[in-house]
Amino acid sequence: MNDGPNDARPVAPYTAIDKTGAPYLIGSRCSACSATHLGYFENCPKCGVRGEVSEVRLGDHGVLYNFTIVHRSLPGVKVPFISATVDLDGGGTVRGNLLEVEPDPAKIPFGMPVNVQFRSASIAVENGDGYIAHFFVPADRGARAR
Ligand SMILES: [Zn+2]
Repeated sequence: MNDGPNDARPVAPYTAIDKTGAPYLIGSRCSACSATHLGYFENCPKCGVRGEVSEVRLGDHGVLYNFTIVHRSLPGVKVPFISATVDLDGGGTVRGNLLEVEPDPAKIPFGMPVNVQFRSASIAVENGDGYIAHFFVPADRGARAR
């Protein structure tokens, strides 16, 4: 799952590493309305309740909800890239870069099954070595990097 250096640190605060060294995405689940969100919240972002939200480990599989192909860059950001929104199995909707697919809308089907993988942030940005970030890859290609 993680093909970055073993001592790589997560880029985002919503990424954690379990006891086996496997990175995963941290989410919040509300027991009042069942909403699941990326990251930890004390109050539910959907219904606003307090004290009913617990931290959960988000799934590492999902389906592509939408995407855009980004050609506009900032210094150090590699383009083009596919910015995707994925509905994760078990709840939570997460944005991230979709890899291993040609940046051609005709080749990116909505609803495509994808896996969450953690790789070196240097895939997306210059000077990303030493950090890991989450990415999506088509599920039919996901096993290759595990
Ligand atoms: Zn709620």
